[in-house]
Amino acid sequence: MKAYDYLVVGAGLFGAVFAHEAALRGKRIKVIEKRDHVAGNIYTHKVDGIQVHQYGAHIFHTSDKKIWDYVNQFAEFNRFTNSPVANYKGKMYNLPFNMNTFNELWGTKTPQEAAEKIAEQKSKVELTQQPRNLEEQAISLVGTDIYEKLIKGYTEKQWGDKATNLPSFIIRRLPVRFTYDNNYFNDTYQGIPIGGYTQIVEKMLDSPLIDVETGIDFFENKNQYLKDFPKIVFTGMIDQYFDYCFGELGYRSLRFESEELDVDNYQGNAVVNYTDSETPFTRIIEHKHFEFGNGDKGKTIITREYPAKWKRGDEPYYPINDVQNNSLFKEYADLAKKENKIIFGGRLGQYRYFDMHQVIHSALVTVRNELD
Ligand code: FAD
Ligand code: UDP
Repeated sequence: MKAYDYLVVGAGLFGAVFAHEAALRGKRIKVIEKRDHVAGNIYTHKVDGIQVHQYGAHIFHTSDKKIWDYVNQFAEFNRFTNSPVANYKGKMYNLPFNMNTFNELWGTKTPQEAAEKIAEQKSKVELTQQPRNLEEQAISLVGTDIYEKLIKGYTEKQWGDKATNLPSFIIRRLPVRFTYDNNYFNDTYQGIPIGGYTQIVEKMLDSPLIDVETGIDFFENKNQYLKDFPKIVFTGMIDQYFDYCFGELGYRSLRFESEELDVDNYQGNAVVNYTDSETPFTRIIEHKHFEFGNGDKGKTIITREYPAKWKRGDEPYYPINDVQNNSLFKEYADLAKKENKIIFGGRLGQYRYFDMHQVIHSALVTVRNELD
């Protein structure tokens, strides 16, 4: 076996940034990936000339110019602005919650009218100063109508739990705006890489100092890897790494159901959320709209996203960062500190609801701490 400096477990964004940066610093890296492709959950591939986001809609957004410049080294980005719409029982509402949404719901026309409507709804509910859960947080931000129609059903499907049991930070991801602005993110920079995300990871891993092997599960040979490599960057599940010794962390999984349709334009938007509680899926994405209709004429690909309970062996798409899981994670993190051979990184290694820009930031900090 070649003399490697690092084994990177997982060819997702964290593993790829780490490997790329370590190779730039002259290190030799072996990357193993259990799936049959690189790029982790940002993997995209072409069908009918359309870049399909295999593991759900991915829109890059950041306010950090350094991160934006960093990712732009690996792809040119288009000017896509995420503006999902919500379908609640057949009626369409703009997202995130903004003057368009308020007008569609109540006919309010000015920010003052909308603010008064929300204040009136809040005044009828008993709210604590500090919201104790997602329901209280949502009502205190946007009132009861939006909570009932656009948040409650979607959230309870997505997380498989009552909004009163869920942490409030989840809903604070979404902007609330008193302007007619349907941009889902507040960030300065936003877009989709022209030609998809996979090329970004491929370019990061394209170095004579990096060897990549897909279809390899670390756990099939854990002890051997620990003997063979001086250091390991692990981007899989931290609880699985420690054989669930303190118990399982909570995850939420998803099932993606894709369809190729012989129409040019199925839903007129990249993302449509279904916010009622009866529809079993949370959203439908129509992939061609991420690249402004690029693709073969008369064809479109759509994907329905069904939330699913996670059990061992399923894909852990979301960490459930509630108080109980965060305190269990702390036990694993304390154990991880004692393993000076292993670095835990990424959404699963750090058990954090990270977006892509946060993963890149975290990987760059990790590399600097490790090698500079
Ligand atoms: P991953 O992409 O999960 O990579 C980890 C890799 O490790 C995987 O490929 C996995 O197969 C591999 N692995 C795990 N265990 C093993 C093992 N034992 N052996 C070998 N390999 C292993 N972020 C945004 O910024 N914008 C968005 O719009 C957005 N939308 C999202 C939508 C969905 C549905 C989901 C689930 C996430 C979304 N994200 C979004 C978040 C984004 O996907 C993550 O921030 C990012 O992909 C995490 O990168 P990672 O390297 O930490 O993890
Ligand atoms: N959410 C909602 N209604 C929507 C969209 C989102 O209530 O139409 C809530 C839901 O709880 C979700 C959270 O806002 O989990 C964060 O949404 P985001 O779109 O950021 O979720 P992700 O893309 O990470 O699945």
